Amino acid sequence: MAEPVSSALLSANAHILDDDVLIAGVSLSETAQQFGTPFFLYDEDDIRARAHEAAAVFNDGVAYASKAFLCGAMARLVVAEGLCLDVSTAGELDLALRAGVPGSRLILHGNNKSRDELQLAVDVGARRIVLDNDDDIAHLALSLGKGQRADVMIRVTPGVEAHTHEFVQTGQEDSKFGFSLATGAAADAARAVRKIPGVRLAGFHMHIGSQIFDLTPWSVAIAAIAPLVREFDVEELCVGGGLGVAYVAGEEAPTISEWGAYVRGAAEGAGLAHVALTAEPGRSIVAPTAVTLYEVGTMKTAAQRRYIAVNGGMSDNPRPVLYGSGYEAFLLREPRASRDTSARIVGKHCESGDVLIDEAWVPDDISVGDLLVTPVTGAYGISMASNYNRVPRPPVLFARDGHVRAVQRRETFDDLARLEV
Ligand SMILES: *Cc1c(COP(=O)(O)O)cnc(C)c1O
Repeated sequence: MAEPVSSALLSANAHILDDDVLIAGVSLSETAQQFGTPFFLYDEDDIRARAHEAAAVFNDGVAYASKAFLCGAMARLVVAEGLCLDVSTAGELDLALRAGVPGSRLILHGNNKSRDELQLAVDVGARRIVLDNDDDIAHLALSLGKGQRADVMIRVTPGVEAHTHEFVQTGQEDSKFGFSLATGAAADAARAVRKIPGVRLAGFHMHIGSQIFDLTPWSVAIAAIAPLVREFDVEELCVGGGLGVAYVAGEEAPTISEWGAYVRGAAEGAGLAHVALTAEPGRSIVAPTAVTLYEVGTMKTAAQRRYIAVNGGMSDNPRPVLYGSGYEAFLLREPRASRDTSARIVGKHCESGDVLIDEAWVPDDISVGDLLVTPVTGAYGISMASNYNRVPRPPVLFARDGHVRAVQRRETFDDLARLEV
């Protein structure tokens, strides 16, 4: 038995009616008729507000981590709100350039950047290249042409592992990312970088995890890295992304402003008041701003439980399969109904593991043809989508001021067939 879905799980401009939900004045049920299902629908002004909040609370250089959700409209939106854009591959970099984002607003990440990726970042004058390992440093030196320059940061593994509700301090880090603080590798990297003509060490970077609710690990990590920041007297410290969001009832996450104020306090406490503090949130900018809308295709009551199958699944939201992530669902035609029946919401893929919600609560009268909504699907949904079973990927819609538009159309069989040779 569960209460009706909480409006706290919907975006800022959502409005729950008796028989529908409006997002920024746009009816989800009318949108289903217009665009078909499934689709992702984002509350555009909510993304704007969150991007604006991040830009206001951190120093210039704060970036949106584009892997959470990227398309041309999204890239332009966050840059217009004052954020830079984190990219980790040539594919993300290419999208950003095609969207008209200037190179000076791009930050290149990655633990295995190709020579081409480094070259492209140098050529477009990326604001920062975040160096991850010794090969990265060597390859960057080789990529710099005559007279070319690059501003870099060094990614440091501060020896702090953040978990959702707890953290453990690891004596020795075991991560594929970054230079170890404890072994002195990070300091060695900083010295090596300073010897390369044309390369300027702008700062240090860390990223301690994702979907973090408890802010404490940031102060531990900042205190750990502070001596390095002071020793090399760099201008910037980036505290990464990772701020958590509520996916299900009862979860509560700090706001972007609270997070920003907390890490600023931690930096000041660690003697870094003079250092520009930046961050790179992904999930907290977009996850709560979108919903996914599916249609129920079949239902069955098996020995152990009830199954409700929708016309999507692990191809548009792999997070439950990858991480066992929880979501909620509600019936669009009666969003205020109490949800008294437990069911497993599954997709249409040929895998028993193709589960969207392991134990969902839905109204008892749910039936085939109903529209089912899963909130908080704005991050790591469409960006991780696949064509498994050759299912075309859903469209991405933006709603604002009573209008809805597709910013990425539904994939077609022709799109899929185009790759055949
Ligand atoms: C993924 C990632 C982020 C964003 O993480 P969120 O949990 O989405 O905020 C930021 N920085 C780096 C280096 C990342 O890999």
